Amino acid sequence: MRAVKFVNELVTPSKVVCVGRNYAAHIAELNNETPTSMVLFIKPNSALSDTLCATHGAEQLHYETELCFLVKGKQLAGVGLGLDLTKRRLQSNLKEKGLPWERAKAFNGAALFSDFVPCNDTKHYQFSLLIDGKPAQYGDTQLMLHNAEKILSEISEFMDLEDGDIIMTGTPEGVGEVESGSTFQVLLMDEQTEVLSHQWQAV
Ligand code: ZN
Repeated sequence: MRAVKFVNELVTPSKVVCVGRNYAAHIAELNNETPTSMVLFIKPNSALSDTLCATHGAEQLHYETELCFLVKGKQLAGVGLGLDLTKRRLQSNLKEKGLPWERAKAFNGAALFSDFVPCNDTKHYQFSLLIDGKPAQYGDTQLMLHNAEKILSEISEFMDLEDGDIIMTGTPEGVGEVESGSTFQVLLMDEQTEVLSHQWQAV
């Protein structure tokens, strides 16, 4: 089983639960409807990787930078950043046909994470993605349609979250293709204070 780092400990998520369409501007950029109930999907432990790949099989991958929470004792305990890698073309086909998204979202290497650190009480954060030093995505928890506590309670209504499970809270606008050779740097802020940063080199 694959692991992520929470402070000095290695933890093994049994699953990653992802929120879709949680930022109005990203819903608009993909021409999606604003959902009446929370859109949730899952990536299995086998999707976790440390390697950012530009392609998987024959398809180009798209990046989505997301604020992530790590669950411990049924509570939000850790915070970090992740990339939800997506086969956008395949996902569009599946969406059109009303089919599940796993083939486009749950493949090997579809979930990358920074280390996790203990989260603050407000769960109010800002984050950004720089590609080769240029700003590509910016997110703020105040722009989320559903906040972290609401997401936790909604998931917990129908699914047990085990220690180490990760919640990905959805992507802000600015998603795009991963290009091999580019440097992805993500930065997590608590107001003016840097909480953590992480870097991947796309292959
Ligand atoms: Zn996503």
